[in-house]
Amino acid sequence: MLIHGAADEEGALLVDSGHGLDSQQTVETVRSALQGQRLAAILNTHLHPDHCGGNARLQQQFGAQAYVPLGEAALARRWEEADLFHGQAGQYCPRFRVHRTVQEGERIQAGGRSWELLAAPGHDPHALMLFDAESGALITADALWAQGAAVVMGELLGEPGGLDAAEWTLDAIARLPVRRVFPGHGPCFDQVAPALAQARAVLQRWRADPALHARHAARALLKFHLMEARQEPLAGTLIWACGVPLLRRLWERWGPAGTAGPGEWAQLLLDELLARGLARREGDEILNI
Ligand SMILES: [Zn+2]
Repeated sequence: MLIHGAADEEGALLVDSGHGLDSQQTVETVRSALQGQRLAAILNTHLHPDHCGGNARLQQQFGAQAYVPLGEAALARRWEEADLFHGQAGQYCPRFRVHRTVQEGERIQAGGRSWELLAAPGHDPHALMLFDAESGALITADALWAQGAAVVMGELLGEPGGLDAAEWTLDAIARLPVRRVFPGHGPCFDQVAPALAQARAVLQRWRADPALHARHAARALLKFHLMEARQEPLAGTLIWACGVPLLRRLWERWGPAGTAGPGEWAQLLLDELLARGLARREGDEILNI
């Protein structure tokens, strides 16, 4: 989301930058939206590759600074692929430069408004939201969508408390005088209460049935991979699945009995994606839809 700079500000602020594979498109969209204004900075709500993957190219094109949540800054500065979420998840994210850290309670001036940064743990333990009390605008990224809820990976990998944190974040949103939500995926919406109720219902289902949550998480990793690959031979998908640390860890705890490894699990998950129309198979080729 692009917030145009007010007259006394250094330029515009972009909240999250999309995926690295779409970055040329993002540059063009941002350039036309800027209408000659300078892009001063990108603020990342969290460092999943669909939220910070465009940073590198935007920095190159516009010289924008990158602000990242304090809890992730050290890792992002070191950029050891194996330690970063996208490395764990077998995803693509070009390296970018971190200029500044931001944290809960801080205020960011953008668009003539004072945006308060709020903690949004759950989906990502370090995630932040931005709230402008004057207009009631809340930028939630993956902490609240219009429908459903984002996976809480930590909860599935031996760090209990993730679901509690996700619910804590929903409670925090419910207490705010929010008039419009700008989520990280999908259009903005005004009906906050039904979105909160839906998200709570999903989290409750996952709490009652962690294996369901794990299957959803694994399927989401596979779908994300297919979005990146766009089209590849089935063997390529399965080789990817065997080499992804997060998928292996999920399989070790939650993989269905009788599967010999994450590759075999991925084959079952792929069948589910195919059945739901979220992927297509043509001969030996798998196509993302
Ligand atoms: Zn995310």
